[in-house]
Amino acid sequence: IKCSVVESIGDEVRNLKEGDFIIPTYIGECEECENCVSGKTNVCLTHPVRLTGLMPDNSSRLSIKGQKLYHVLSCATWSEYVVVDVNYLTKVDPNINLAYASFISCGFSTGYGASWKEAKIETGSTVAVFGLGAVGLGAISGAKMMGASKIIGIDKNEKKKEIGEAFGMTHFINPSGSDKSPSELVKELCGMGVDYCIECTGVPTLLTQSVEATKVGIGKTIAVGIGAEP
Ligand SMILES: [Zn+2]
Repeated sequence: IKCSVVESIGDEVRNLKEGDFIIPTYIGECEECENCVSGKTNVCLTHPVRLTGLMPDNSSRLSIKGQKLYHVLSCATWSEYVVVDVNYLTKVDPNINLAYASFISCGFSTGYGASWKEAKIETGSTVAVFGLGAVGLGAISGAKMMGASKIIGIDKNEKKKEIGEAFGMTHFINPSGSDKSPSELVKELCGMGVDYCIECTGVPTLLTQSVEATKVGIGKTIAVGIGAEP
């Protein structure tokens, strides 16, 4: 589950009821702490990322054959049923398709928010997005919403061209078929580079490429991807 239906609620839960459609999130939002009211971040100080795998009262509500299981990142979204602190749930429109909505929680909204809230892309600007998974497609969708004039997607999977275009991508680069670097290919389309480059793969060499694909001085590179390599 990443989008699900409320089966029952605790005694003190006021803003959700049985049957509501919800999406669990890693980070809550109290709307009152210094970080929440800043408007600069979603890293709430009251309901932070919980790395212990336990509920806020340090208990676990999950078990299998008598053995304790852990609530991964407050969500435990690989289980059929889960107990979640209400502060880590977001209510969604019940008309939404649950299968599609499952992409909103972690992947899509991360990229969308990078274009919208972090880059604050201006109308008419140029954008390049490295990596066209759910995060990258979200970044493309956010760039389109913000009115970018040119949205370049970079991915070595040719199938991502059609998918990217469906989300608003205007140009596609598959660097695997070229002896030029991805940043050189971006500059062939955008001269001095793009106004905003959003890196969604976490591959160290591509983080360097995304900086080089960005306009010197006035451009902005947003590093979203987290890589396995140091
Ligand atoms: Zn907060």
